[in-house]
Amino acid sequence: MQPLNARTTSAMSKVRQVRTTPEERVAKVLRELGKAYRRNVRNLPGKPDFANRSKGWVVQVHGCFWHHHDCKRGTVPVNNREEWLVKFAANRVRDQRVEADLRGIGFEVVTVWECETRHHAALVERLINLR
Ligand SMILES: [Zn+2]
Repeated sequence: MQPLNARTTSAMSKVRQVRTTPEERVAKVLRELGKAYRRNVRNLPGKPDFANRSKGWVVQVHGCFWHHHDCKRGTVPVNNREEWLVKFAANRVRDQRVEADLRGIGFEVVTVWECETRHHAALVERLINLR
């Protein structure tokens, strides 16, 4: 599937809205670097956000809240704090397992945090060496 163009029908612009801004920033940089990719690849572990099967790489974009990044966005809600901590811990364990599974079948895995997508040059740096 090709990435969606910004000029779309109204039906397609609804599809675009479900995609988060951090993912769009990563897509833009991958295009700038000429790295071909598929999005939301179902038949790979963890349904990676971006992948190139033949080159053997995956780029995961992790939201800082849901994946509990160690940054100012990785907050814990005051209400039901214990339940959130359990949920975040489970998310982190799942992230690690997915990454291990992908590496196990020979994929290079790059994890990009939501907060990192705000720095274009740094994002280029992270992605430029993909195979
Ligand atoms: Zn972060």
